Amino acid sequence: MKKVTVITGGSRGIGAAAAYLAAQQGHAVCVNYLHNQEAANKVVDAIKQSGGKAISIAADVASETEVLNLFNTVDKKLGKLTALINNAGILEQQIRLENMDAARLNRIFATNIIGAFLCAREAVKRMSTKHGGAGGAIVNVSSAASRLGSPGEYVDYAASKGAIDTMTIGLAKEVADEKIRVNAVRPGFIYTDIHASGGEPNRIERVKEFVPMKRGGQAIEVAKAILWLLSDEASYTTGSFIDVTGGK
Ligand code: NAP
Repeated sequence: MKKVTVITGGSRGIGAAAAYLAAQQGHAVCVNYLHNQEAANKVVDAIKQSGGKAISIAADVASETEVLNLFNTVDKKLGKLTALINNAGILEQQIRLENMDAARLNRIFATNIIGAFLCAREAVKRMSTKHGGAGGAIVNVSSAASRLGSPGEYVDYAASKGAIDTMTIGLAKEVADEKIRVNAVRPGFIYTDIHASGGEPNRIERVKEFVPMKRGGQAIEVAKAILWLLSDEASYTTGSFIDVTGGK
């Protein structure tokens, strides 16, 4: 079966690494992004130059209208969806919970939770045998923060990933007999731009001593776990989690 995969937040970091690897493994990929068209084009161009198939589509996953447009465009340009990597996610300045206002909480939960739910919804509508689909797989990109809580940094972000873990368990059971597998990866400290959003671009250098392996991870190390979960190698695996954390 032809593999068609949407990667939300595929322009940079873990999403970009997953896009490259998926393309190498024969997936036609849709690289979704929010604003950084240049980064998205770079990923798409590199995939095309290596003989793969890729398109980029700007869409804010927190917007229902834009998510609908994203999936409708994929239907038209790439064909029948077979996989979703629910990867887009944000965090904000490191602060304590008592200083978080509603606007910030809405932004974090809208992107990290509602965005993942809306994209999962559109993927299920297309892949479920209940709706005439041929099946598929979803991998949610959660975080080790869901079990560690991120005290003093971003409890809101950690809680949003807790919601993703619960969605992974519930949705996996909901669609298990409709030929859709739903799993999650929980990365630890990975070298990407996301830490700059928290106000500490070099955060990993500070925290890596708390990792049993004593180092941060690379985006490709997370991408490999994601692509394994999407593959037929993981055919009896659903509602599961792979921690990619160097032991933390
Ligand atoms: P990143 O380098 O900051 O990249 C974020 C990506 O998400 C970009 O492609 C960005 O698009 C896109 N994005 C942001 N908001 C979006 C929205 N509303 N709609 C669509 N796309 C949006 O992040 P990362 O570190 O690779 O993180 C990827 C995922 O891994 C996130 O869910 C994050 O929570 C999770 N994670 C990361 C780490 C880590 O240490 N890095 C650890 C645990 C979990 P633009 O390029 O257009 O801005």
